[in-house]
Amino acid sequence: MRTYQNFIGGEWVSAASGKTFTNQNPADTREAVASYQQSGQAETAAAVAAAQAAFAGWAAMTSVARGRILSKASQLLEAKKSELAELLTREEGKTLAEATGEVQRSADIFRFFGGLSYTIGGQTIPHDLPQNLLFTKREPLGVVGLITPWNFPIAIPAWKLAPALVSGNAVVLKPASQAPAMSLELAKVLAEAGLPKGVFNIVTGDGRSVGGELATNANVAALSFTGSLKVGAQVYQQLAQRMARAQMEMGGKNPTIVLADADLDLAARLVAIAGFGLTGQACTATSRVIVEKSVAEAFTQKLIEKAKAIVVGNGLKPGVTMGPAVNAQEFKGNFDYIDIAKNEGGTVVYGGARLSDGELAHGFFMQPTIITGVTPQMKIASEEVFGPVVAVLAVENFDEALAVANGVDVGLSASIVTRDLKKAMLYAERIEAGVVKINQISTGLALQAPFGGVKKSSTDSFKEQGAGAVEFYSRIKTVYLDYSA
Ligand code: NAD
Repeated sequence: MRTYQNFIGGEWVSAASGKTFTNQNPADTREAVASYQQSGQAETAAAVAAAQAAFAGWAAMTSVARGRILSKASQLLEAKKSELAELLTREEGKTLAEATGEVQRSADIFRFFGGLSYTIGGQTIPHDLPQNLLFTKREPLGVVGLITPWNFPIAIPAWKLAPALVSGNAVVLKPASQAPAMSLELAKVLAEAGLPKGVFNIVTGDGRSVGGELATNANVAALSFTGSLKVGAQVYQQLAQRMARAQMEMGGKNPTIVLADADLDLAARLVAIAGFGLTGQACTATSRVIVEKSVAEAFTQKLIEKAKAIVVGNGLKPGVTMGPAVNAQEFKGNFDYIDIAKNEGGTVVYGGARLSDGELAHGFFMQPTIITGVTPQMKIASEEVFGPVVAVLAVENFDEALAVANGVDVGLSASIVTRDLKKAMLYAERIEAGVVKINQISTGLALQAPFGGVKKSSTDSFKEQGAGAVEFYSRIKTVYLDYSA
């Protein structure tokens, strides 16, 4: 078992209380993966103070010099890819292939922002008068707080941290307690790459006290949060009270529309990957399939065949294509939603059961699950499940499909499977979502493109990822210079 301390001011330190917590492997709960500090308000305030002390020196460096450290971190991450991927799988449960992809993605994110460091600057603007210079500068904010979820335990910290650091901010990160190892490993890599002490700090522990301190501490200039709507809404209010800059990215209820003209084999393949891949624990996972009635039965049969082919098991084992739920609470939540769906009139046409035979006895394993006969009023059609559960809704035509797709209060990712270019483009125009995929899985994002939701999926203030990510982590200053005299 690994043991981790908090990372504050460049030092590894224990929580004042002396208390720790331990995470079990969700594929085999008899294995303790790592223990962490059970920290609270005091440790978080200390981390903010350390970040504040380091800020001026870091901000004074050029973005190019900062970018060099990020590029170096990218190389170090890549060199540790297999070690980190295995640890990620042990702690969070996703398959080794999925974990390897996530670590590689994180290395790529640092490489991207390392290169972007050459472009971070302002703009010159024509002045009304001759011999006058009017220009903008991009400046860091100060200490930035990051609060991240467990489902992408290295990619999400990376996609917040890299733009925050290259912009010149000092950072305090609170990772989700279900999977903090990747963040702490990231701290080691950044220290080795030459990041000055105190520029990046990590505090593990209770969400309410560690996260609450980041939200309310007057020295935290801005906070970027990814997680559930319930917690995001609460943190947003705390930030609003002191008028701090906020970026909140929350869950979705992502639709894939399957039109009658679609290649149904392709549709079934895309829904199986986006609905059951990553054990359905992706914010962009397909959880609603909205299919035209004339092909609903044929599509469902093909999706069932895809679900049957999924090999559920320990993600470290070769051949396994779907790992366990992350913990007992999420596991139970999945079955609660299946029960509610059944009670509301849905039919489980595949899956719905726990898998506990043989090697699966000690993990949170379940079958990929398909529920048909779902109507928009049912809970399974409107609330995020965050597991491998796909609801199938049959509709008359494209217009009804679009209305159903838009009939929820969240809007993160949305896809459509069709050969009809006009309908595909109308969908792209009319769907209320931050990301639209045409003949593609609803999951999977290009790191160089903007990402974020609409409606209650996001505060919709600043996008994450892509070159524009630095906008949240920096502010524009406008400079007027008169050299006519
Ligand atoms: P969560 O909201 O339970 O926790 C998120 C983070 O907030 C954790 O670090 C947690 O410790 C912390 N936290 C908990 N209570 C807090 C409080 N009172 N104050 C401050 N911080 C607190 O979410 P989760 O279960 O870790 O993640 C799953 C959710 O994240 C899903 O809803 C998923 O859709 C969403 N998600 C969204 C995106 C996106 O980019 N939009 C990406 C991944 C996950």
